Amino acid sequence: MNHPLYIAGPCSAESLEQLIATAEELNGISFSYFRAGVWKPRTRPGSFEGHGIKALPWLNEIQAQFGYKIAIEVASAIHVEQALDAGIDAFWIGARSVTNPFTVQEIADSLKGVNIPMFIKNPVNPDLKLWLGAVERIENATNTNIHAIHRGFSVYEKMKYRNDPNWQIALDFKIERPDVPLICDPSHMGGTRDVLLELSQIAMDLHFDGLHLEVHNDPIHALTDAMQQINGKELRSLLQKLKLRERNDLINDEILELRDKIDSLDKKVLHILVERMKIADQIGQLKSRNNTTIYQAKRWKELREKNVKHAQSLGLPEELVSQLLKLIHQEAIRIQASYIQHKEDHGIVSDKID
Ligand code: PEP
Ligand code: MN
Repeated sequence: MNHPLYIAGPCSAESLEQLIATAEELNGISFSYFRAGVWKPRTRPGSFEGHGIKALPWLNEIQAQFGYKIAIEVASAIHVEQALDAGIDAFWIGARSVTNPFTVQEIADSLKGVNIPMFIKNPVNPDLKLWLGAVERIENATNTNIHAIHRGFSVYEKMKYRNDPNWQIALDFKIERPDVPLICDPSHMGGTRDVLLELSQIAMDLHFDGLHLEVHNDPIHALTDAMQQINGKELRSLLQKLKLRERNDLINDEILELRDKIDSLDKKVLHILVERMKIADQIGQLKSRNNTTIYQAKRWKELREKNVKHAQSLGLPEELVSQLLKLIHQEAIRIQASYIQHKEDHGIVSDKID
């Protein structure tokens, strides 16, 4: 089994000494890129914004001394130009930049004719199309090697994780772009050291192609993202604890039989849905004839409560059942609204839909 692609290194390039100390700690660990932020996109002004161009020769020193490939963040055409001049090996586009198509396009234009591996983070907001769009802008400009990085999505108040993992968006990304390898960034997703292993494990179990982890020789004193960085020893221990499972789908008689059962149950669920919608349709006709509003809050509340309670007694999660019922109810309303709409179109009723 090939091991996943690993990217490791400090959040920021703080000094040549810090980079060398971190690089030494990574000695012996097999990873593909040593990362370090040179231009730091800070949310508010007044904090450390990276050493910029001054840090590029330090990274050249790491290339020379350790033979590591270097990846840095670029956020403008000037960054691209300066980093290319310095012989940096790979670039990533950060989550804030990916939200802005102008920025991504500017970076794409500056990459024309250049063949440098690109890593594209998800935008801070949960917008799959924006993420896909950024990938497309880069691939329209250059036929370089592109990877996507899932780092979670902004939340107003930090919950368990700094950024909401919203794994579904990453899985949808995989469906849309199975050809683009997907890396998980548990460091920016989690925001604290204690959750890195659990997030890394989930990512591996969801078939991600690699991990991006921030590593600093002295994490507590890091100038940026001090809470989430780990040292080399901690990275080694995390990678040892990580369970890498077989990535090919399991095909044997037992699973095929179970999948047959799932397929036939899914079919039944769909037939039941058809029956249910037919009845919603009949009710729609009745309501329309009697000039009654479609949405009845009391009935909907009762129905939801009754079913959620019943589902709980069956051991089904409340969230699943309430989301499912909401979708079904929305569809029933759409069906019933078509009767009212039809009548309105023909000047029969002037009913209002709640
Ligand atoms: C980073 O990787 O240093 C960074 C700023 O991450 P993100 O763009 O995911 O916030
Ligand atoms: Mn960081």
